[in-house]
Amino acid sequence: MGHVDHGKTSLLDALRKTDVVSGEAGGITQHIGAYQVTMASGKKITFIDTPGHAAFSEMRARGANVTDVVVLVVAADDGIMEQTIEAINHAKAAGVSIVVAINKIDKPGANPERVRSELLSHDIVLEEFGGDVLSVEVSAKQHLNLEKLEEIILLQAEITEPKANPNRTAMGAVIEAKIDRGRGTVVTLLVQNGTLKVGDIVVAGSEWGKVRAMVNDHGKAIKEAGPSMPVEVLGINGVPMAGLEFLVVENEAKAREIAESRTHRKRDLLAKSSVKSSMESIMSQIAAGDIKEFPVVIKADVQGSLEAISASLLKLSGTEVAPRILHGGVGGINESDVTLASASGGIIIGFNVRANPQARDLAKWDGLDIRYYSIIYDVIDDIKTVLSGLLAPTLKEKYLGNSEIRSVFNITGIGKVAGCYVTDGIVKRGAKVRLLRENVVIHEGTLKTLKRFKDEVKEVKESFECGMAFENYNDIREGDIIECFEIESIARKL
Ligand code: GDP
Repeated sequence: MGHVDHGKTSLLDALRKTDVVSGEAGGITQHIGAYQVTMASGKKITFIDTPGHAAFSEMRARGANVTDVVVLVVAADDGIMEQTIEAINHAKAAGVSIVVAINKIDKPGANPERVRSELLSHDIVLEEFGGDVLSVEVSAKQHLNLEKLEEIILLQAEITEPKANPNRTAMGAVIEAKIDRGRGTVVTLLVQNGTLKVGDIVVAGSEWGKVRAMVNDHGKAIKEAGPSMPVEVLGINGVPMAGLEFLVVENEAKAREIAESRTHRKRDLLAKSSVKSSMESIMSQIAAGDIKEFPVVIKADVQGSLEAISASLLKLSGTEVAPRILHGGVGGINESDVTLASASGGIIIGFNVRANPQARDLAKWDGLDIRYYSIIYDVIDDIKTVLSGLLAPTLKEKYLGNSEIRSVFNITGIGKVAGCYVTDGIVKRGAKVRLLRENVVIHEGTLKTLKRFKDEVKEVKESFECGMAFENYNDIREGDIIECFEIESIARKL
């Protein structure tokens, strides 16, 4: 994992070429989402070919912990970047050990020394600084030190000692699934324990089937796959999601029973209009004494607020439950933040920033709470309430709708008026409004006017146009978003 363009794909490609087996056979490797490299020593490493950290946490959110070691790729000419930090935090939240590949050392501007010291400030303490994180300087382009990288991966693996028993029924995780014209459903499974055999009955999520055929990462048909082997499997009826666990059961009747009960459960969950939000579930778990940690992801508009919020939250530790900051960053809330928070059963705090539409949809789907704030004191107060195990806060913000500013008019006597289109929800007169520019809050206040054509109206619904002007505020621009919300007061229950 690592920042975009730091060389993850290049490194995976280069590592794939170190495989002695495919080298000898001259075989073409087949893309199946994961592959195994056999080294000259005969030792093997399986690489998962999903270098994105969002994909990594998504898998974890669905129940699978597929990785034993995360290789953090940092370009030596670029250093630690936003997504490097995200990757570190995703790996830490998963409790997976990290080895660092300092890439692109062939480049003239490469400065591996700087990378090493920058890592320190993100709690990655390399061996040379007295820590226990192994690192190596590599070049994916010139194939420098790839064997050394593989060695440190194996070394790290020996420390964590992942163990599996080949002599039991197989279980593991879904890496990829697709429908292939001609072959039907093709599912890549990573066997994590036991041995998977042709003829086995497999259940993954609410899909199941009998393994008709298996193909390894060299495109060769095989009859058996042991621990850590990725295989393409034919014969499963549907397309299970990546990250789901799979297991082998004794017969078809059992498989059907498990699959059907899961389908029912999924339908029930979807039908329930009020699926418990992550916040509610955290609160009830705290109240029941089941958890001692409260995982949060913090996104803020500026570094200063981020630091202030993090510091104040950490000060709340020491009571019976403590906040745990999974990740903090500057900028809008993205999908990576959502997967990280939901994989850890936490919430997201947005301080003067908003979620992008994809992140919003994902959060809705996951039942994840995103809490927006514009006053630091409110953040601390809210979290304090949660930590002390109290129920819902007295004041709750209710989102009404968003409108996009399509044009801006200057009207004498009134000032600037925004010609808007309500993109979702509703806009109400008297409600509160915020002005957002590129997902960052620019202004918060009230509306002076809300007009449909020439008339002042009470509300405007989704897909309609309207004119709006802010009370005492004029810096509005085309493309800005006006967010409309109300403050609801809710009685405190004990
Ligand atoms: P990803 O986004 O992390 O998967 O990065 P890519 O593997 O796509 O690499 C981004 C760019 O960096 C590509 O143009 C690569 O050719 C280049 N690149 C990757 N590794 C190296 C390296 O070791 N040395 C040099 N000079 N360029 C590299």
